[in-house]
Amino acid sequence: MSHISDCVDALSTNDYPLITTGWPDDEYGIHHEAYREWVENIASNLDDETDMPPVMSYQEWKVKQRERTEDRIAEFSRSTCDCCGTTLGGSRYAVTGLPSNPSTDSSYIPYEVCEDCYYMIATGSELE
Ligand SMILES: [Zn+2]
Ligand SMILES: [Zn+2]
Repeated sequence: MSHISDCVDALSTNDYPLITTGWPDDEYGIHHEAYREWVENIASNLDDETDMPPVMSYQEWKVKQRERTEDRIAEFSRSTCDCCGTTLGGSRYAVTGLPSNPSTDSSYIPYEVCEDCYYMIATGSELE
């Protein structure tokens, strides 16, 4: 089985021609609703006597959450690589298809790819 030599070409579509590594915040669950739940959870764990302690702002919280995200979304998975279609067990990585005008269009396609494909997308060259 030969591997697709250009993973960026394989993933890009007319609507989402730009291929980038990682996912947008939303795809990792980093959005305002999750922040609100986090704050409510702190509040609900307080007893009646205790005032709400100062909590991180949404911006601060987002920065903290991002520290925990990485491009590698699974250490070991057999899920199909969106690029080459392999189901061989291994790490899976986050890749995103963006529209040609990402500054005005926030839509995107999240992809999950195998290590080889991720490496090619990230560096433009094949893994040894
Ligand atoms: Zn692949
Ligand atoms: Zn590929």
